[in-house]
Amino acid sequence: MYDFPPFRPPSEAGSYLIRAVRGCNWNKCAFCAMYKGMKFEIRKKEDVLRDIDNIPRYFPPSRTAFIGDSNPLIHPNIVEIVRYLREKRREVERVTAYARIKTIAKMPEKRLEALSEAGLTRLHMGLESGDKEVLELVNKGIKPEDAVEAGRKATKYFEVTYYVMTGLGGKERSERHARNTAEVINEAKPTFVRIRNFTVIEGTPIEEMIGKEITLLNAREQLEELRMLIEGIEIKTYFTCDHVSNYLFTRSGPIFFGVHGMLPDSKESMLEQIDDTIRTVEVLEKSGERVLTSNDMYKMGLIGL
Ligand code: SF4
Repeated sequence: MYDFPPFRPPSEAGSYLIRAVRGCNWNKCAFCAMYKGMKFEIRKKEDVLRDIDNIPRYFPPSRTAFIGDSNPLIHPNIVEIVRYLREKRREVERVTAYARIKTIAKMPEKRLEALSEAGLTRLHMGLESGDKEVLELVNKGIKPEDAVEAGRKATKYFEVTYYVMTGLGGKERSERHARNTAEVINEAKPTFVRIRNFTVIEGTPIEEMIGKEITLLNAREQLEELRMLIEGIEIKTYFTCDHVSNYLFTRSGPIFFGVHGMLPDSKESMLEQIDDTIRTVEVLEKSGERVLTSNDMYKMGLIGL
């Protein structure tokens, strides 16, 4: 039986999916429910190669492939796996993988170079925050310096996506979270920045902190934090809120679908769009209509994550 990775980024919807490891070797981030309860395991190389042989039986033809689960670059045979995939599936033009920032920060550049030569082209990495206090609070297991180092190394060989979680520090740390995250992005220089708004998943350790260490942002505060983050980014990068957690809703439907565009060229128009939405939220709230965030929608069972 083919072993499918249980998660992949939205941008990998049409990709061949290959599972080199099962679960997450860190598995301690307080907000994350992805691999909880799953024992981390490095799959046997032979099993992974057999899955690659079987790709045509399970997937329609594709030019992209994604390797999971959360940190497959620690597989001792990952270079061979990527090379085998490229040899077997000549139609593939892009090969991507999730990677932990800590792993890339520590990885010798020779290994990154070998992965690039084998045919790996893009890494998806969870930064979440560039603020030391927020990273510690959520037990991310990385420091801002790791994220800068990982970006510096990885961008020499690959396209790099950094995922950022707006709202993660709560109201208490909103400004420092936004400003320090922008600073790390400016130094790490990822190719893409993808935003996920912090949404409390039932059963995750962070649930216990809500209302104590962390006060959730309301719709206006979410937009203000997003604004501060964009304002602080000075490098060229593609910035996108390509996830439902960024949307804002009223009872009649969504009023905000996030902002998307190349920075710095689109910065002004993105900030204008956010300012327009802040004004809309204020008008709606004055008239007694509550604007709902991803946390409200998730609790009501109206969105899944
Ligand atoms: S966020 Fe990533 S590194 Fe953290 S526990 Fe989840 S999968 Fe692992």
